[in-house]
Amino acid sequence: MKILANDGIDPLGKQLLEDAGFTVDTTHIPQEELAAKLPAYDAITVRSATKVRKELIDGCPNLKLIGRGGVGMDNIDVDYARSKGVTVVNTPAASSLSVAELVFAHLLGGVRFLYDAQRKMPVEGDTKFGALKKAYAKGVELRGKTLGVIGFGRIGRETAKVGLGLGMDVIVSDLFEVPASLPLELSGGVTVDIPIRQVESTELLQQADFISLHVPFTDKPIIGKAEFELLKPGVGLVNASRGGVIDELALIEALDSGKVAFAGLDVYDNEPTPRKELLTHPKVSLTPHIGAATGEAQERIGAELAQLIIDHLNK
Ligand code: NAD
Repeated sequence: MKILANDGIDPLGKQLLEDAGFTVDTTHIPQEELAAKLPAYDAITVRSATKVRKELIDGCPNLKLIGRGGVGMDNIDVDYARSKGVTVVNTPAASSLSVAELVFAHLLGGVRFLYDAQRKMPVEGDTKFGALKKAYAKGVELRGKTLGVIGFGRIGRETAKVGLGLGMDVIVSDLFEVPASLPLELSGGVTVDIPIRQVESTELLQQADFISLHVPFTDKPIIGKAEFELLKPGVGLVNASRGGVIDELALIEALDSGKVAFAGLDVYDNEPTPRKELLTHPKVSLTPHIGAATGEAQERIGAELAQLIIDHLNK
């Protein structure tokens, strides 16, 4: 059977599929040529770039499986595909730790002004060293501070674990009841169960020193103008979930007023052209949607996707 890995697949995943007898083609076929070329394949794997819409599915009656390496499936007409008997699989858990660690790259960078120092040191580091040293003198530690995690699913839990490992107090809010404790795996094979406190979202917004959001796409921001009013002065915010979850204009206002000390953003309203005021804001730590972009996550995604394909197509 032939599989088109149109947005690429980790070499480990490719190897697993080939070992199981599949032919894997990693040549990227442009979206507009897929209708003509996909009928030659039994399955397609995509990340977020390739779209598998109703018309494409209709044109490929032999298509048996659509695999998404990663979480969101907005680029696939999932219900329609399933209604036509096409299996749709994804790998939602494989990148959770990578996203959680990126959250802490933003947080640890944020509390020591790295986002600003990295911009200013190359231009002023040799002429204004003393002034910059003074400007970044009021750092804080994360240990002992309260981390508020909004959305306690796969990534929220991994983020909480990293925070707990750093000695932070973690409070969480979710639409559903969450486990009362989390198993924290330490080195040496030691696992410790740490209690988690679930609170109402208002309480979280009022109590947290740092807030990280891990919810799916929402029509209305979780932190909008009214919610910014509730936050502790000097709070640090991180969004590595979806653009739109924080009201970006209200965020800029809150950064300018000093209500929010800094924000770490991996996702934006209008990707791939985020608003310039955020990209150039001196209090924002920026990454271009790279939460899942680690070698380990990509390898896990590839291996998990390969296994799902083998399980479904080799039945
Ligand atoms: P998940 O489905 O495991 O967890 C989401 C949690 O949010 C659930 O527990 C749900 O009950 C909760 N929730 C939903 N609406 C809520 C609300 N209004 N208030 C509080 N809680 C709410 O999802 P996940 O795998 O943890 O992914 C979380 C987000 O991270 C998604 O938006 C996903 O697209 C994004 N993501 C980003 C990257 C990246 O590269 N930055 C990578 C992977 C996933």
